[in-house]
Amino acid sequence: MAEQQIPNLDGNFYRNLRKYYPTVDRGEGVYIWDTDGNRYIDGSGGACVVSIGHGVKEIREAMLKQADRISFAHGSHFTSEAAIECSEQVVSLMPSPELNKCYFLSEGSTAIETAVKLARQYWREAGKPDKFKTISRWTSYHGNTAGALALGGHTARRRHYQPLILHTPHIEPAYCYRCSFEKTPETCNLECADALERMLKYEGPDSVSAFIAEPVVGATAGALVPKDGYWQRIRAICDQYDVLIISDEVMAGVGRCGQNTALDNWNVVADMVVMAKGLSSGYIPLGAVVVKEKIWETIRRGSGAFVHGHTYSMNPLAMAVGAAVLKYVKEHDLVRKAREMGQYLLEQLHTLRNLEIVGDTRGIGMFCGVEFVRDQTTKTPFDPKLKVNAKVFQAAFQRGLITYPGSGGADGIQGDHTLICPPFIITREQVDTLITLLREAIETVTQELYV
Ligand code: PLP
Repeated sequence: MAEQQIPNLDGNFYRNLRKYYPTVDRGEGVYIWDTDGNRYIDGSGGACVVSIGHGVKEIREAMLKQADRISFAHGSHFTSEAAIECSEQVVSLMPSPELNKCYFLSEGSTAIETAVKLARQYWREAGKPDKFKTISRWTSYHGNTAGALALGGHTARRRHYQPLILHTPHIEPAYCYRCSFEKTPETCNLECADALERMLKYEGPDSVSAFIAEPVVGATAGALVPKDGYWQRIRAICDQYDVLIISDEVMAGVGRCGQNTALDNWNVVADMVVMAKGLSSGYIPLGAVVVKEKIWETIRRGSGAFVHGHTYSMNPLAMAVGAAVLKYVKEHDLVRKAREMGQYLLEQLHTLRNLEIVGDTRGIGMFCGVEFVRDQTTKTPFDPKLKVNAKVFQAAFQRGLITYPGSGGADGIQGDHTLICPPFIITREQVDTLITLLREAIETVTQELYV
């Protein structure tokens, strides 16, 4: 594939202003083609979005059927049959009947902002107006809108926008490969969960409305799976100090981690579950916050209105697509497939550990990651200026494999990494091809780094 060095000059404001982007043509199953006829395995489902595969006819039909009726009616004027069906589908994924009220948005970031505002308004209406802080974690990602960025804990992403807009105390992540407390799996006593209690005492629990975290960290760290017991302890601490748990399942949710919600892996029920990406499998922009009835009921009995709203919330077209995608996930048993094929994917990723620059391979369900290091024994990351993640991405892309790269933080304490999170429908043979291409890409970059 020809690599052009000149930037596109066609009026689009791209993310990377110095890069050439091929033009996408079409997609089917796990594959994407560009207009030059190159085929790619979508090994990352875009940005961990596509779960049911590309080009599913049932979704196209649901979209057209709804468009034939009506595409837009404002959420402050109407509900729709599609919205009711979509809510029912979403609620049916929840691990507890308490989680039974949905608020729809058009993506993850605004869904996160919505959850944070809901938490504050809930406590205010419950008679605790001072609970205004949200605690989050370093090495996390919650979106790019100003509030979500402040919650996030990726130093390189935050750097250009300091000072950030919310007061959001951060605690250490559950990052077993690089434990902030220098523990091993054998000596670990979930110190990273206890960090929440310490922070609550420091900030004053009466000032904290919620703790927000990704059950499995995605974009900023390459699929960090916490140790068993972590989430149970977080739940106990939040219960003790009257703090809500907002589970950011924008990447990890809707089956991606092999269960309906990611926290189902630890039998923990959050107070709010935030979803996007897999909710519509990328067929239309869609996000949602599902909240416990007590939150909805407190606001309903109090002021009676959640002071919020976005133009495209709950628009009928998005609702019809969301409902159709979730129906498709169920009818094709795709959560089980994510769980089972994800196990095979992870086993195969582990075979890459014999490559010189692979420090760690990890994941759960169809949500896996590889972390790159300069030294496997000391776990020393590469200098971020070398852009190892981008190099691996490019080498894989040129071979027809799409991955989702992430850099270490600006402070260089974590390594470059890549997410491998294909659609749930990927076959064993396609996983094998993905691994072969990834291995070749990593080997090529290793040679470049050491010449
Ligand atoms: N939260 C998490 C965990 C994410 O991974 C993302 C996006 O990658 C977001 C929130 C923000 O979602 P969006 O990009 O749809 O605004």
